[in-house]
Amino acid sequence: MNDYITIIGGGLAGTEAAYQIAKKGIKVKLYEMKPKKYSPAHSNKNLAEIVCSNSFKSNLLTNACGLLKEELRRLDSLLIKIADETSVPAGQALAVDREKFAERVTNYIENNELIEIINEEVGEDISIKDIAKEGIAIIATGPLTSEPLAKEIQEITGQDKLYFYDAAAPIVTKESIDFNIAFFGNRYEQEKKKDETEAEWKKRLENQDASYINLPMSKEEYEKFYNELINAEIVTLHDFEKKEIFEGCMPIEIMAKRGEDTLRFGPLKPVGFDDPRTAKRPYALVQLRQDDKEGTIYNIVGFQTNLKFGEQKRVFRLIPGLENAEFIKYGVMHRNTYINSTVLLDETYNLKENRNIFFAGQITGVEGYVESISSGMVVALNAVAKYENTEKVTFSKETVIGALAKYVSTKNKEFQPMNANFGILPELNEKIKDKKLRYQKMADRSLEKIKV
Ligand SMILES: Cc1cc2nc3c(=O)[nH]c(=O)nc-3n(C[C@H](O)[C@H](O)[C@H](O)COP(=O)(O)OP(=O)(O)OC[C@H]3O[C@@H](n4cnc5c(N)ncnc54)[C@H](O)[C@@H]3O)c2cc1C
Repeated sequence: MNDYITIIGGGLAGTEAAYQIAKKGIKVKLYEMKPKKYSPAHSNKNLAEIVCSNSFKSNLLTNACGLLKEELRRLDSLLIKIADETSVPAGQALAVDREKFAERVTNYIENNELIEIINEEVGEDISIKDIAKEGIAIIATGPLTSEPLAKEIQEITGQDKLYFYDAAAPIVTKESIDFNIAFFGNRYEQEKKKDETEAEWKKRLENQDASYINLPMSKEEYEKFYNELINAEIVTLHDFEKKEIFEGCMPIEIMAKRGEDTLRFGPLKPVGFDDPRTAKRPYALVQLRQDDKEGTIYNIVGFQTNLKFGEQKRVFRLIPGLENAEFIKYGVMHRNTYINSTVLLDETYNLKENRNIFFAGQITGVEGYVESISSGMVVALNAVAKYENTEKVTFSKETVIGALAKYVSTKNKEFQPMNANFGILPELNEKIKDKKLRYQKMADRSLEKIKV
């Protein structure tokens, strides 16, 4: 038996696991294929790269992802700590400066003398089967696990279904946005109050501390944009279109094709805004969220897409305020690799057929940055328990971290990747109608169960 634990993949789950294991005084060998090889969505040589939106979602305890973050804070998550330290303004959400975030995680891991980073791809010359013969291995290679390893995973799990597809949103520079049209404002805080005069309202807007840039659209502008969007050319990716698409990360053009008003009830909903130029609610509204600490680049919220790059430029520039937008990153469609954890794993993310192997991160079917970090935490504690021959560490299903682990390891024929949400936690003993109050009680119940 090796005197170290092997982790494959230095993304969000892998780096959290490495930190937690080293914290217990155990050595870690961390395989990361970058910078020798990059997935289609990774481009930064650092570990813990954030590939799409820079948002870790809400910080409120009445939001399941907010509660999950708080649980992780209490469990001393390195990545949530660094996310807090590198946060950028985003209202009630936790959004990070992706460069600073990855840089700081990398420094932390590189400077830990118990962690050895090996920049090699597993699945080519190095086999996961060989690694797991000699000791404990954690596979945390994410949604874009390289092909040779994906093949090996298929062999060790005996499963043929490993993939489906989802998409990422484009990013534009702030200086290229037309602020004669665009305005800063957070939903609901920006509306003109009934008892406010127009002058009072405008003064309040000038002094507000808002995180989002908003682009209001009239009916005519929306219709023009909509018609171009549904007819725009998409990237032809062999049999991509036939594959399953995850509802939570649906390309904007596919959502649009569901009906002319679908976007106006989704990412382009104008609710909670009055256009400062007209003092009226716009017909539709596009939001941009700050993407770096300095506030120089912004992502277009909900605009994950599979349009050809030229088409993205042409169609998204029809949005008022983006006529001259400079795109520093275009949206992409990407593969999402995950195993059928519901039959393969137990609730410590341990492979039932080979107890030396754990899976962590998006590959287990948890969906999202924070969810991936949370599985990295659970796996690390259990890899340590296995290494030390002590009892497994499980979390109450009344916590989000425990509920997610339970969800992905429970039989389910309709299994699809799962975000943190209150629907996977057990109901309270008492019936509470008010949703906010109910979630607050669920959050209180959870945090009581998290032992520090
Ligand atoms: C394009 C795209 C957009 C996304 N958008 C969002 C979003 O907006 N919000 C959100 O919450 N989640 C999003 N996700 C999901 C997101 O990837 C995950 O939530 C999170 O990054 C998963 O963490 P992870 O640790 O499992 O994998 P990753 O963070 O991807 O880390 C995996 C690491 O393994 C390495 N690796 C892969 N194969 C091998 C190999 N064979 N040998 C060695 N190293 C290997 C990779 O280089 C990478 O560094 C998106 C994913 C993609 C691909």
